Amino acid sequence: MLNSKKNLFTIKYAFQILLLVFSILLISEGLWGSAFAPKNLTTLFVWVHYRGLLVFLILLLGNFFCMSCPFIFVRNCLRVFISPKKLWPKKLQNKWAGIFFFTAVLFCYEYFHLWSQPAMTAYLIIAYFVVAIIIDLTFKKAAFCKYLCPIGQFNFLSSTISPKTVAAKNLSVCDSCTTIECLKGVVVENKIIKRGCETHLLMPKKIGNLDCTFCMDCVEACPYDNIALKSVTPTEELWSDHHRSGVGTLSKRPDILFLIIVFTFGALLNAFSMVAPAYELQSFFTDVFNIKSQFILLLIVFIIFLIAAPLIIIPKKQKQLIPSLLPLGFSIWLAHYSFHLLTGIFTFIPLLTKISIPTQYMGMPVRLVTPIQYGFLILGFAGSIIVTFMMNESKRIRFRWISAHLIILLAAIWIMSLPMEMRGTFIGLAP
Ligand code: SF4
Ligand code: SF4
Repeated sequence: MLNSKKNLFTIKYAFQILLLVFSILLISEGLWGSAFAPKNLTTLFVWVHYRGLLVFLILLLGNFFCMSCPFIFVRNCLRVFISPKKLWPKKLQNKWAGIFFFTAVLFCYEYFHLWSQPAMTAYLIIAYFVVAIIIDLTFKKAAFCKYLCPIGQFNFLSSTISPKTVAAKNLSVCDSCTTIECLKGVVVENKIIKRGCETHLLMPKKIGNLDCTFCMDCVEACPYDNIALKSVTPTEELWSDHHRSGVGTLSKRPDILFLIIVFTFGALLNAFSMVAPAYELQSFFTDVFNIKSQFILLLIVFIIFLIAAPLIIIPKKQKQLIPSLLPLGFSIWLAHYSFHLLTGIFTFIPLLTKISIPTQYMGMPVRLVTPIQYGFLILGFAGSIIVTFMMNESKRIRFRWISAHLIILLAAIWIMSLPMEMRGTFIGLAP
């Protein structure tokens, strides 16, 4: 069903419009609904359901959330009237700004307690729309998606483990194609008739899902109907360090390698922030160094997780193996978000219907969710081991990387084994 061109476009536009309407409802609920987070659908849907569904959808089908992006829908509508004139600056054509925004969102989530702030969550959605639209009405192509969007960076990395990719149906057709509309689009008298790939991916040389927003513009542009959604072996694109169109060679992209590290250790950090030792660690710094500023304390925790821990755990020199962190990193996000989603999946029903449901029926019991979380972590670890073995390195290098994966796995299991805050739901308020 997904392979039909017509169905793909129906899904894309239907979901973009649906998410746009949903975003507007979330903004109004966040601004004018209850200020008490467990009674507000904005905090509940954004921080519990949206994130959980995002990781499950990527795992099962690929980057359908970027495909359904409401910001890009609005941008494309406005681009009918306003054509961007500038090119994104060459110096910024990398992931450093994306890493900054990704880390900033993680930091703000903790610092401002966003899960408990409906109005702030609404302003975050508004800010997202405003920034995405301003950037993409100023600069050509998809500068916001490729270089800035923190959700996009998360989705690009996560979808390296998904079983679907946009790919050429028949590479020999591409061999004889001289016009490469999949990349350049169709432009007549300076007017874009069909968009090419706005994240600069040339289909015959595209490898995997990195930087692919699943926008399907290439599918529409290819005059030979030679592009489709294909099934692939999850993590396959990480088994080699080949040059990728629009991305380059991963081992020569320090920005992407650092993004992978922040993605993996950020997953640990995000989960760690919800268990008791996070508060004990901050109390330790307050007691020993008399640091009272919450901002500084949080900054210290971020530095420990995103800089010190990777420096200690990740083997130096074999940076071509850094992408092998991705399956494990993704599994930590999956284990964490699935905890919130599964334990609180029906928490929105009392808010929408005013029918009260006993707390124990609002989601799965923790004792059943915990083994599922461990299962995800073990699968992620297995994925990282497979990538490490496929990279064709010496036994000594493999051993060092497998040890690093094992340390991260054990840290994740330890965090998931601790009682976790159920932020933003009624369940979190239960005794
Ligand atoms: S995907 Fe289509 S447009 Fe792109 S190179 Fe192949 S045949 Fe040409
Ligand atoms: S146009 Fe580019 S980003 Fe969009 S689906 Fe095709 S390859 Fe992916």
